[in-house]
Amino acid sequence: MPSKKRLEDHEPALPDLRPQSLSEYIGQEEIKKKLQIAIAAAKIRNEPLDHILLAGPPGLGKTTLAFVIAKEMGKNIYVTSGPILERQGDIAAILSALDFGDILFIDEIHRMNKAVEEIFYSALEDYKIDIMVGKGPTARSIRVGLKPFTLIGATTRSGLLSSPLRNRFGMILEFQFYSENELVEIIKRACGIMKIKVEDDAAYLIAKRSRGTPRIALRLLKRARDVMTIKGKDVLSKDLVEKTMDILEIDELGLDEMDRKILKTIIEIYDGGPVGLEVLASTLNVEVDTLKEVHEPYLLRMGLIARTLRGRIATPLAYKHFGYPYKLRGGL
Ligand code: ADP
Repeated sequence: MPSKKRLEDHEPALPDLRPQSLSEYIGQEEIKKKLQIAIAAAKIRNEPLDHILLAGPPGLGKTTLAFVIAKEMGKNIYVTSGPILERQGDIAAILSALDFGDILFIDEIHRMNKAVEEIFYSALEDYKIDIMVGKGPTARSIRVGLKPFTLIGATTRSGLLSSPLRNRFGMILEFQFYSENELVEIIKRACGIMKIKVEDDAAYLIAKRSRGTPRIALRLLKRARDVMTIKGKDVLSKDLVEKTMDILEIDELGLDEMDRKILKTIIEIYDGGPVGLEVLASTLNVEVDTLKEVHEPYLLRMGLIARTLRGRIATPLAYKHFGYPYKLRGGL
């Protein structure tokens, strides 16, 4: 059975750019309001926090928030992810090593296999697990009691979870894309930590190109800092950010090469659509899940594609973005 030390192997190094408390965590106001109440109440009752599901596209701060919750509760957090939990024994070892109120964070929780998922049903509801010991005719199931703990699961969409698993979460928190002003705040905070002097319009331009996503904002900021260093400047100006965007081929809507390829494929090969997601994924040679969870949410949000019963279509805005004439198609 692995010790705590072993569990910590699952933990990625925490970059210092991560906010440490709910008050430092920018945006997601609705989520923070709900959490503040739940955390305060759990502390007064001296109970572990109810199980929490965090749902939303990658890079919106789910992992960061899980660490903030653990800090606010004053508890340990252990990190793992759905696809690496292969056997029931793995999860039994992890769960039985948790102390009262500890937090287990499972990223990509929708990718756990069925056998592992089933162990969680009784673990989450009754803090008990049944594990098989022995093999063949001598195999038997033994029941192991667990200390009350909190599971925080992260997934790109809550609908990807089976309903028995989803129903065991006391709170399902859906993340929203960040506004430009919130991203400016995140960028400026990171500049403070990284000791970068940044002009307001430079921070705003990075925010505008970040697809509502802090992870992208911070990545673009780091690349812009590289350009600043190479040019021998000590202030990050709008000019330098524009240069960075040109180098990275990120256009004024924040679209990268892959996004543009998706839109152009729908327009040029499928005559604007409708085209099914599976067909589109195989034409582009990407996984359906990547298309659906990583690229599509932003293209939908920007109104560049739309979902119809027969598949995805490119909107007039997408045509305009590439300077193509839009032709109305019948039957849509
Ligand atoms: P997810 O788990 O949803 O994929 P992460 O928690 O890994 O996203 O966040 C990606 C990056 O964005 C992290 O480096 C984190 O520092 C930063 N970040 C995310 N949300 C916020 C926020 N609300 N305030 C400040 N930084 C944030």
